[in-house]
Amino acid sequence: MSKQSAVICLDLGGSFIKLGVMNAQGELTLLDQQKIPATSWDEFTALVSRMIAQHHLHFTTSSPVAISTAGIVAPDSGEMFASNIPAFHQRSLAKELGAILQREVIVHNDADCFTLAEALAGAGKGHKVVFGAILGSGVGGGLVADGRIITGQNGLTGEWGHGPITLTEVEIDGVTRRLPRKACPCGQKGCLDSYGGARGLENLHQTLHDRTASSVEIIESWQQQEAQAQQTIQAWLQIVGQPLAYSINITGASRVAVGGGLASVAPLIAALDEVVQGCVLSRTAHRLVVPGEFAHHGGMMGAALLARDLTRRA
Ligand SMILES: [Zn+2]
Repeated sequence: MSKQSAVICLDLGGSFIKLGVMNAQGELTLLDQQKIPATSWDEFTALVSRMIAQHHLHFTTSSPVAISTAGIVAPDSGEMFASNIPAFHQRSLAKELGAILQREVIVHNDADCFTLAEALAGAGKGHKVVFGAILGSGVGGGLVADGRIITGQNGLTGEWGHGPITLTEVEIDGVTRRLPRKACPCGQKGCLDSYGGARGLENLHQTLHDRTASSVEIIESWQQQEAQAQQTIQAWLQIVGQPLAYSINITGASRVAVGGGLASVAPLIAALDEVVQGCVLSRTAHRLVVPGEFAHHGGMMGAALLARDLTRRA
């Protein structure tokens, strides 16, 4: 493999640092995964330097570093807002890490990177507007049009998980149930995030049935036709489906690629697609909502494609 056009890929999350390499053919290989030193900048940069040094045979000295990260990157200053990773919260990650590594570093939000990877090479390939819907532990999103990430004010786009949007009533087996609009850490009340992701699904089950169960248990029970889990998923599909359909109406997306842990449950995403198809204004014959093809490493893949594009244009 030629190392000349290799891109060093990093995925930074609240728990782990993942290191990978993208080759000239656009293939991504995961090389290493370590627990992130989330509170110390010095420990964080030392670990990143060590991880890259340990795998130096895959790269050249001029290989750029493409980072997909949790948190928001300010479009002008590059300053990070990542309150759950204090190690680089409020730092200009690309600039400061680039100076330490002596390499070009680009940094982008992980949901945006995932959406770009899906739009260029995955489930959204061939579609002009692709919405990336992250259903992980929480709800996030990104938007790509004509092969480019749309970066909104303050670096925020596609955040369909926040805002007072959740339904307060759902129909379950013909019975109307009232749901409270819960307070969200973002400061608002009624965010989809409180019922929409894996933690949200657990909240919903607790609210409807006063029972504690993990998202995995709820989904397994749903697939085994267990009554309470069926009701929870019925409610979840309504709560998630409507704002997703609304997001499609607004963005004009012809494909929604779903990422995050819940994307791996194909029957759940198929059921979500059915609900969304019933709510959107512009009907199509093809599926709108599909699992992403790069659910595991889509962030790294998108960041690497972005870095490669910037290097070519430079
Ligand atoms: Zn919120």
